[in-house]
Amino acid sequence: MASEHRARKRFGQNFLVDTNIIERIIESFSPDKQDSLIEIGPGQGALTDKLVERCEHLDVIEIDRDLAQEFSRRYEKADNFTLHNADVLKFDFNTLIPKENGYRLIGNLPYNISTPLLFHLFACKHLFKDMTFMLQLEVVNRLAASPGNKNYGRLSIMAQYHCEVEKLFQVPPTAFRPQPKVESAIVRLTPWKQPPCATVDHAQLEILVRTAFSQRRKTVQNSLKKMLDKSQFDALSIDGSRRPETLSLEEYVTIC
Ligand code: SAM
Repeated sequence: MASEHRARKRFGQNFLVDTNIIERIIESFSPDKQDSLIEIGPGQGALTDKLVERCEHLDVIEIDRDLAQEFSRRYEKADNFTLHNADVLKFDFNTLIPKENGYRLIGNLPYNISTPLLFHLFACKHLFKDMTFMLQLEVVNRLAASPGNKNYGRLSIMAQYHCEVEKLFQVPPTAFRPQPKVESAIVRLTPWKQPPCATVDHAQLEILVRTAFSQRRKTVQNSLKKMLDKSQFDALSIDGSRRPETLSLEEYVTIC
């Protein structure tokens, strides 16, 4: 596809060129003929060709008009391919035809929008069966971190509230052109069918967690003093003198 295309930094374009890594991603994703897939940011089609031939239907969402035009030409005759030339952050997934088993998402994501994009996807997770993404290694480590770990924070708690998080494997910068400055990793996020803790208002949970982590060095009781006092911490049997990174997802849900 468009070999003369010049990678656009503003769209986070680092194209996958390592065929072994591409194969490994496809194998770990394991598309099936009955699957309805959505690829975010297909770029020059490194994953797309292998997906379209192994699924029931593939929707792709690409912001870059030049790349989108190439896809329209390339898959003109494919009857199981739909192109959305759109900004995924503004894309309303509810406008897609609902699928009984849920859509399966895949993407080598633009790293500059990864956190807002994950929150956008969590908000409509009921539409998705699973999501396999390439992200900056640091972000994957944050998604998968456990309490006490230095990477544990708002992203870990919110991701683990919505999904089971599995870090699959790391990908070096040499797998891309142009090469990113950071290491990358593949993560699988599977929205819980049976959540590991009680269901709460996720917007409230997010405010609570954001407030708790606003000053990492402070105790939770101090950071959350506008929301609850010592006696309320005591009533919940949670020691308010602990630091925010030591509280588990269940404990944040209990406070919420
Ligand atoms: N999938 C390709 C690959 O692996 O070689 C390209 C991956 S590249 C890291 C990210 C892709 O996401 C680019 O094609 C870029 O144009 C697209 N993209 C960036 N921001 C986007 C947005 N807001 N909405 C939709 N696509 C976006």
